[in-house]
Amino acid sequence: MIGSMMSTSLTVPSLLDHANRYHASTEVVSVATGGGVERHTWHDIWVNARKLASALTKLGLPAGSRVSTIAWNNHRHLEIYFGVSGAGMVCHTINPRLFPEQLIYIINHAEDAVLFVDETFLPLVGKIYRSLSTVKHIVLMGNTKPKETYGLNVLLFDELLHHESEFDGWADIDENQPSSLCYTSGTTGNPKGVLYTHRSTVLHSLGGNQPDGLAISARDCVLPVVPMFHVNAWGVPYVAAATGCKLILPGPGLDGASLVELIDSEKVTLALGVPTIWQGLLAALGSSGSKASSLKRTIVGGSALPPSMIQIFRDQYDVELVHAWGMTETSPLGSINNLLAKHGELDEDTQALLRLGQGRPPYGVELRLVDDKAFVLPNDGKTQGQLQIRGHWIVDTYFNAEQSALTTDGWFDTGDIATLDSDGYLVIRDRAKDIIKSGGEWISTVELENIAVAHPNVQSAAVIAARHEKWDERPLLIVVEKEGADIDEAELLSFYVDKVAKWQIPDRVIVVDALPLGGTGKILKNRLRETYGDALLAEPA
Ligand code: ADP
Repeated sequence: MIGSMMSTSLTVPSLLDHANRYHASTEVVSVATGGGVERHTWHDIWVNARKLASALTKLGLPAGSRVSTIAWNNHRHLEIYFGVSGAGMVCHTINPRLFPEQLIYIINHAEDAVLFVDETFLPLVGKIYRSLSTVKHIVLMGNTKPKETYGLNVLLFDELLHHESEFDGWADIDENQPSSLCYTSGTTGNPKGVLYTHRSTVLHSLGGNQPDGLAISARDCVLPVVPMFHVNAWGVPYVAAATGCKLILPGPGLDGASLVELIDSEKVTLALGVPTIWQGLLAALGSSGSKASSLKRTIVGGSALPPSMIQIFRDQYDVELVHAWGMTETSPLGSINNLLAKHGELDEDTQALLRLGQGRPPYGVELRLVDDKAFVLPNDGKTQGQLQIRGHWIVDTYFNAEQSALTTDGWFDTGDIATLDSDGYLVIRDRAKDIIKSGGEWISTVELENIAVAHPNVQSAAVIAARHEKWDERPLLIVVEKEGADIDEAELLSFYVDKVAKWQIPDRVIVVDALPLGGTGKILKNRLRETYGDALLAEPA
């Protein structure tokens, strides 16, 4: 048969080329590390990313070199995303909130050659530098050298770019070559690297940004509060370039008050982040009196979205909270919650109930449930099983691992326990290692936590499996009180009556000052289990 179509590689720099070609004057607004707002355009980002690609090549780094960042969401970080991948190298984003030993492990394991650092994190790098075995250059993301460099020999980002005038073009890129690298936070064992390819990144941007997906358009003003060191800010920088939307990068100011100010001054229409961020935003909205009137949607994921939050945003601010699920291994978008045409006839409360779940997979990924023996379970909305996923942007083999991460039939096991219904709506019940096995029945800690945080006296809550002589495990509720509140254990437990079955109600409440959080802002339940796992055994019979 004669006839063919053009075939061009799906590459990360092609996304930025598009933004420059058709959205050159659209703004990229960035909060500087030292404060103050910097205004650029997609054209400026394109120019600087190209200069950076040249500069990196001149440093003598071979293709495929890992170039890492320890940085906030800002315009230089965006330039690094595209400049590094466009130079044929791998952009490795590092989470600065990890423990120093984990940072050292990750940087040495990735064999990073260059480290781009925001000034905030210079002291951190100064502390660990001697333990880094492969880093040749440290580049400070700024235009002036600080007085204190913590014994480090630093290059300056702006100076590096200043000398570049000619550009030989992006590297010759095969779409299956790696473009970026991100490590899981490793709550158990060492962190593992997920090596994204140009192709997986572009397909994630296209497949994830359908009208029933992220649904970002050129008319949007998008604020990724989710850090650029957390699974590539959920892919937003790439989607933003592909759509040419206005992009707002919040720098270090992730507190509620700073976010309210940015949303109002830049007229943000869509913001994305983990649930804890929106708790801070709600408090700040309340005290500032702002109605965040430009904001239409927020996309929330990373951990379960408390139902009470959806309602407050909808009723008080007319903002739609869209719940999404994913993980580092899934680029991250695995599912996102939008309703179908047939749901339009349902009353508001039933619709609201559907929106609580994690939604449906976009084109490009598939979900299934299996039991302990790897038998596939029905998608009936009731049967709980281990959630598995496969698709264009799902990990196959971890960075430098010897074996594939997949099952023998080619699926990735997420470690989550979930239900799926016949339309593909996913409800995450729990992580397999967190779920409570009480006398042979499973109890979802997520469900019990959602109820606790809806109580007026509770600031935040975690439920863990505590060992129990008779039932093996029973739920133990650990809470932080709202300021000025005084929690009464019996009253809080009575709040569960009629909301869950009686045998699912926690056995005890422990009030603490704060819950331990990991590098990505999630509650460290393994730490809580270590501390309180025997709390019910110690009870007198
Ligand atoms: P880590 O696995 O290192 O904590 P990830 O960011 O990859 O880092 O976390 C992925 C996990 O986060 C998922 O497997 C799931 O347990 C949880 N998660 C993500 N989004 C949601 C959500 N919307 N609801 C409930 N859990 C979620």
